[in-house]
Amino acid sequence: MSEVDVPDSHPRYESLLTRHRIEEGVEKGITSRQGLIAQGRGEAFDYLLGERTIDSAEGAERAAAAHLLLADHPVLSVNGNVAALVPAEIVELAEVTDADLEVNLFNRTEERIEAIAEHLREHGAGEVKGLTADGRIPGLDHERAKVDADGIGDADVVVVPLEDGDRAEALGEMGKTEIVVDLNPLSRSAQVGTVPIVDNVIRAVPNITAHARELQGQPETELRTIVDEFDPDTALEAAERAIRDGDVDIGEQ
Ligand code: ATP
Repeated sequence: MSEVDVPDSHPRYESLLTRHRIEEGVEKGITSRQGLIAQGRGEAFDYLLGERTIDSAEGAERAAAAHLLLADHPVLSVNGNVAALVPAEIVELAEVTDADLEVNLFNRTEERIEAIAEHLREHGAGEVKGLTADGRIPGLDHERAKVDADGIGDADVVVVPLEDGDRAEALGEMGKTEIVVDLNPLSRSAQVGTVPIVDNVIRAVPNITAHARELQGQPETELRTIVDEFDPDTALEAAERAIRDGDVDIGEQ
């Protein structure tokens, strides 16, 4: 038995675990109530994808790993859903790719940023950025524009799982390489990402880490080839096709 009291052989195990973690996140004050709605939306898309990593997402995860290894200053953005769902996994990805972690919230409160930073530290994080908020993303209203100048403000590659469309667009306009994780291939975030990963963050983050481990030590030319061969439009089309045409076969419901 597991943390959600269902055997991990249960066909909906991952989905139940995800809900349980988000609920706990809300109880602990790290996930907002809006986060519950985002979760519900994501779950519906994941159901249609068959709750699996499709091939095009696997390719995107590999390209994301190559980008992170090539980056001068990679930053992983963490919101309340990410902190609730994959705290240890995002800390591990930061370690393997030598990236900074920065808390970045849609509904920003210092209290929640502090709670998320503490939650990440409990899962092994060292420094967590996000509280200094001395940088701004141009084109967004005051609260939504805040970032750390030496974090996301200075990053060349940012991973933004479950980012809202406005901010994803504005970050792209700053010239940053944006790796988006979003189960909806039609969302604006996925559409503007340099590397859109249409997969559940629960599967995507450990997969990027696994690819980064495997690619570590590869010559730069090899990493550049992986980056150059990735085409976001092809990946988004493949994801949309999988959702529209796929057979849903994930066991009894
Ligand atoms: P946009 O402004 O980009 O069009 P939106 O308004 O649809 O986005 P939100 O309601 O903020 O976005 O929802 C967040 C997005 O995160 C949704 O597209 C949802 O599918 C996705 N999402 C939710 N949970 C997960 C998850 N566990 N893994 C990956 N994506 C997720």
